[in-house]
Amino acid sequence: MPGGRRGGASERTSTRPKDLAGRRARHAPTRIPRLTTARASSIASLIFSDPGLLDRRRRSAGKYRFSRRWARYQWVRKPGALGRLGDEVARLNASQPLVLCDLAVQEALATQLEAVHGATIVPFNGEASPGEITRIGDAARDMRADAIAAVGGGKSMDTAKAAAHPARLPLVIVPTIASTDAPTSALVVVYNDDGSFLEYRFFGRNPDAVLVDSEIIARAPVRFLVAGIGDGLSTHFEAQASASTRKVTMAGGPPLLAGIALARLCYETLRADGVAARHAGELGVVTAAFERVVEANTLLSGLGFESAGLAAAHAIHNGLTVLHETHSYWHGEKVAFGVLSLLVLEGRSQELTDEVVDFCLRVGLPVTLEDIGVHADAETLAPVATAACAEGETIHMSRSQSRRTWSSQRCWRPTRLVMNGASSWNALRCCPRLACCIGKRTREPMSATA
Ligand SMILES: [Zn+2]
Repeated sequence: MPGGRRGGASERTSTRPKDLAGRRARHAPTRIPRLTTARASSIASLIFSDPGLLDRRRRSAGKYRFSRRWARYQWVRKPGALGRLGDEVARLNASQPLVLCDLAVQEALATQLEAVHGATIVPFNGEASPGEITRIGDAARDMRADAIAAVGGGKSMDTAKAAAHPARLPLVIVPTIASTDAPTSALVVVYNDDGSFLEYRFFGRNPDAVLVDSEIIARAPVRFLVAGIGDGLSTHFEAQASASTRKVTMAGGPPLLAGIALARLCYETLRADGVAARHAGELGVVTAAFERVVEANTLLSGLGFESAGLAAAHAIHNGLTVLHETHSYWHGEKVAFGVLSLLVLEGRSQELTDEVVDFCLRVGLPVTLEDIGVHADAETLAPVATAACAEGETIHMSRSQSRRTWSSQRCWRPTRLVMNGASSWNALRCCPRLACCIGKRTREPMSATA
């Protein structure tokens, strides 16, 4: 068909510049690759096996070989996953596991826990404090436990991690809520007995198995899921802050591209599915959106922050814990407020700040100090600012930071805040941007059946 061919040639000729432009756009260099869920899962399994793997592979110019020990790590997310606990313990060659859980969890899951062969259940006292960590470590030694399993929330998991890793015991984590990224992480957050932040402990080894039972998580109060969304929300922005300053991550070394990409996938997943997951959680049902958000909260966020870095949002959370009135609010709820503070402190665009504030309001996360029980006056906030900027806090940038980057306004200058803590926080509260985008917003009630 000559006419057709001519027509086709003519069309090709006329659209060529457009094609070139499209091709250029397609091949434009991107600093951070976008991930599909499938690719993210395979990268996640690599980092989960060993957080330093990718960095070591880079250093060894491809000569690094996979070790057989990585085959032991498992991360499972599905309804009924708790039923695999006994099998996972056996797979790790253990027969006398110590199972740490609080009394409410023990009562609710008695049947499944009693089915774990050789298990001794030890009640959790409620705080991931040095005393509680020592108590669990001593109990494991006295009963000659050959593995530790934690079934519960973030603090019981962190206590189990801090007891198991120094004793070189296999560790299985079964989160009953998706309120933090603690299940996946090798990091332990240690608190004082009064609930205030004490220190981070990083063990360099992730749990041997994580069993995420979405049916159990869906039965928990939805506030836990929302808090987990707040914790996951921080991962992307803290990864960006860390990457822009080349700060050393918890896993050691500079932020990894894989960690930054997982952090962004976490943010995109939460934005796309967060509200739907909340509605599913309110109804106690497991939907595809609910499962994706549970994965974002517990896996993507955990790997993201370990391999890409923490920044101001978590430091501000830690600072807020000095106020007793914040103790009734969950980790992720305070971190969400830290994210908004980070965006303002970094001078991010109004559009982005609006986007995050709107998301927080839609999903039910705090957007003001009042939302987390804090009366915003300078006297109250001064100790918060001091604690948020304490030496070693994640708000600080790398010591190798160049002067040029310091002046780039891409991150907070903590020295100024330390010197003028109260006034800086007052300025933060009274900042025109905060006043218009946060302070005057009203929370719209969420419908349980929407
Ligand atoms: Zn966190």
